[in-house]
Amino acid sequence: MTSALDSLPPLRDVLQKHDLFAKKSLGQHFLLDLNLTDKIARLAAPHPVVLEVGPGPGGLTRSLLQAGAEQVFAIEKDERFLSPLQDIIDASEGRLTVNNTDALRVNPADLTDIRPMRICANLPYNVGTKLLINWLTASPIFWDRMVLMLQKEVAQRVVATPGNKAYGRLAILAGSIVHGHISFDIPANAFTPPPKVDSAVIVLDILPEDKRFADLKTLGQVTAAAFGQRRKMLRKSLKQLANTSNISLDAWLEKAEINPTDRPETVDIAGFHRLTEILLTLG
Ligand code: SAM
Repeated sequence: MTSALDSLPPLRDVLQKHDLFAKKSLGQHFLLDLNLTDKIARLAAPHPVVLEVGPGPGGLTRSLLQAGAEQVFAIEKDERFLSPLQDIIDASEGRLTVNNTDALRVNPADLTDIRPMRICANLPYNVGTKLLINWLTASPIFWDRMVLMLQKEVAQRVVATPGNKAYGRLAILAGSIVHGHISFDIPANAFTPPPKVDSAVIVLDILPEDKRFADLKTLGQVTAAAFGQRRKMLRKSLKQLANTSNISLDAWLEKAEINPTDRPETVDIAGFHRLTEILLTLG
């Protein structure tokens, strides 16, 4: 079935018509190949409601609507894109809503009551990790899946497993509430203009509620202490946190079944959960 969305002009023409150039300060690197945006969108849609941060000229937005996102709520900070995005609103018969604001300043959960939302975005590099952490720690969780384009190095840090040099605070936070994997890589030259590094698309599916770790704040304190001194053994790096929590370091590590001479990158996510839970019971 054809729709007015099929008749929208190629994205290069959209940029030219509206005299739009990429602003480095807003992390603007556009995906102008609609085959590629279609491939990404199919990981998120069909779905009743999708949140997109940074639609820019709207390639991924168009793909999401065509892949069966019934409603798309987009947050775009750069007002220069409002005019081209209006053409997509018209072609989609109102299925797209654009909010001209900073995604760091809005709670996406306030945009609609429809649940669960799905998040799909080619994130600006400068705020991508911050937004990801905001969504992972949102309470209550308002989404069931995130499909995100991130710098490859950040994507690897999200899905890293123990023993890997990318394994650290981000992998432990993410692994405490999602099951994630890298779906595919996107080379830098797929973007206009190309960034300095390659990107990857990650898919993060929320774990069932009874499998999620509840106290992410205390978990964050434990992992910050442990990985703040990455090369040190845990008996050294966790000493200060044990002191400020008024607990015995030896008893803490023993009860959590953690070897005091281990380094943090060898401890699995379940080990960090035990450390967090026992810190709370001893403290
Ligand atoms: N989605 C488009 C694409 O794939 O071609 C553009 C992606 S570009 C990497 C990032 C987009 O995020 C830009 O449109 C930029 O203006 C927007 N952006 C940057 N910082 C933002 C923020 N804090 N809040 C909302 N949008 C932001």
